[in-house]
Amino acid sequence: MDSLKIPLSAITEHGEPFDAAAPVAGLRPEDAAALPMAKVRVAGTVTRVGDQVLVKARLQGDYVHACDRCLEEARIPLDIEVLWCYSESAPQRPEANADGEIEISPDEPDLPRPIVGNDLDLAPAVWEELALATPLKYVCSETCRGLCPRCGANLNQGACGCGVAHDHEDEDRKAFAKLADLIQDTMEKRPTEE
Ligand SMILES: [Zn+2]
Ligand SMILES: [Zn+2]
Repeated sequence: MDSLKIPLSAITEHGEPFDAAAPVAGLRPEDAAALPMAKVRVAGTVTRVGDQVLVKARLQGDYVHACDRCLEEARIPLDIEVLWCYSESAPQRPEANADGEIEISPDEPDLPRPIVGNDLDLAPAVWEELALATPLKYVCSETCRGLCPRCGANLNQGACGCGVAHDHEDEDRKAFAKLADLIQDTMEKRPTEE
């Protein structure tokens, strides 16, 4: 099977292999922000277990975004294993709230997802995983030297020769980057206000 929509009639207790590649834009819910990934590959097996359906799959793709330091392309690979459980008797999962966020309580990912209609549509689960795994930072390489603050030259291609003492500035930049990381971490850890 090569689609993210698997007909329920094709799912047996013996396990059915599937291997699908889908454009990520096609999985996006209406009010969600786009993700910087073109295509995702979803491959695994889908198995009927009693009145539930288990999906064990591997998700692979590349987040592609401008490098935070040098603006060249940064490619962050995604390669994760997932296990999803579906049930025809499962309640609907909560809809996105007014801010377009889906409120997921910590234990919710373990609840079975509902099966609607005659197909098992993996698209919503795939989108959720891709959105959750989106990198917070993009660097083309851990050793990326970024841009010269004076002339804007890409320092990965060598010194720019504009006279700025880059070694010294590297230290400053590292200190600032650490500070920025710290601030970002603090912001992320801060509980969201009700
Ligand atoms: Zn870079
Ligand atoms: Zn320069």
